Amino acid sequence: MSARKAKAKQETLPQGSAETAPAVAAGGRPKTEKLVLFTGFSCNSHCHFCIDLNKRDVPDKTTQQIVREMVEAKAKGVTYLEMIGGESTIRGDFLPIVRTAKKLGFKDIVVVTNGRMLAYPDFAKATLEAGVTDLVFSIHGHDAKLHDAVTAAPGSFEQLLQAIANVRALGFKRVFGNCTVVKPNMRSMPDIGRLFLKLAIHHVEFIFVDPNYGGAYSNFTGLVPRISEAAPFMRQTLDVGRAAGVRHWTVRYVPLCHFTDYLDQISEIREVAIFRTRHWAPDFKNDDVGASRGAHGRLKTERCRGCALWEPCEGIWKEYLKRYDDSELNPVPGPVEVPDWRRIPEHPELARKAGHPDSPHEARHGGAPPRQEP
Ligand code: SF4
Repeated sequence: MSARKAKAKQETLPQGSAETAPAVAAGGRPKTEKLVLFTGFSCNSHCHFCIDLNKRDVPDKTTQQIVREMVEAKAKGVTYLEMIGGESTIRGDFLPIVRTAKKLGFKDIVVVTNGRMLAYPDFAKATLEAGVTDLVFSIHGHDAKLHDAVTAAPGSFEQLLQAIANVRALGFKRVFGNCTVVKPNMRSMPDIGRLFLKLAIHHVEFIFVDPNYGGAYSNFTGLVPRISEAAPFMRQTLDVGRAAGVRHWTVRYVPLCHFTDYLDQISEIREVAIFRTRHWAPDFKNDDVGASRGAHGRLKTERCRGCALWEPCEGIWKEYLKRYDDSELNPVPGPVEVPDWRRIPEHPELARKAGHPDSPHEARHGGAPPRQEP
């Protein structure tokens, strides 16, 4: 088959998505309603791969807009509020917004952050007092040289470590992490995993870079590795965690054929099982994230026909297939059993109070584990 014909066949296979199904989790419990609230695209770092890199001039949401959206989300049954940017902590109204979220009664108020503002002890204290329940720190290198190179922000690694030390010193336990896998840091993934262990961060997402938009779209060659090059380092990293007894590190945005021995550590499988997720950004609103990622952002191709992992797999980024090809997708012969990650015991310090959807009791019956998406 010619390369052109093969490319044409990649485009149109229908995608399965658990989020197109009714919003009911395993065991008949309703899925947790989750809103990822993008407060704006302004940021104090300049990560080369950032999906929002070309959106910095889009105006940030106003305070009124954010409050309005939080009220609307609450009325729609959202209990899990995740605030991301850009970088939400640099907003002048960050603390009042968090206080408002707390007043509105969101059970989870999650902030995904580069941590730089939280390096200031007073601000870290005020953030926790305002009502943030979970902090997700983005760490893209195991040392200052690598992290600061990826963030293009000198000093950002030291600030990140200081931020984690600050919130730990205040007794805050719900500390999570994420790391975007790009060409410059992929070989260092196992070392980055060791850093997460040193920081006692037991929930981490290792995210295969999204080249559909932003910095990785513009600099695809410099940033986006072949999945067959990156996956071995990602698997080694999960092994670093496993060797230390950590089973809640996950990988995101990967074709499952490269992770057949790690099917209980795939972010999307966990996500679609427990969340119905909305993304509300300054320039778009998406009320069914899982379905649209499958329908538009990622693809399976003709090569995937007959793969036993067709249903849970979301394939690989559309732009990846355009710039590379689908030759690394390897259909998996069946039958395959996807292990139940809910049976993996939770780290005791992350346990929720009884009655919370994340409490050990609830989790055993299909409740939501801590969330890590950036
Ligand atoms: S062959 Fe296709 S469907 Fe199967 S795991 Fe790989 S990407 Fe997914």
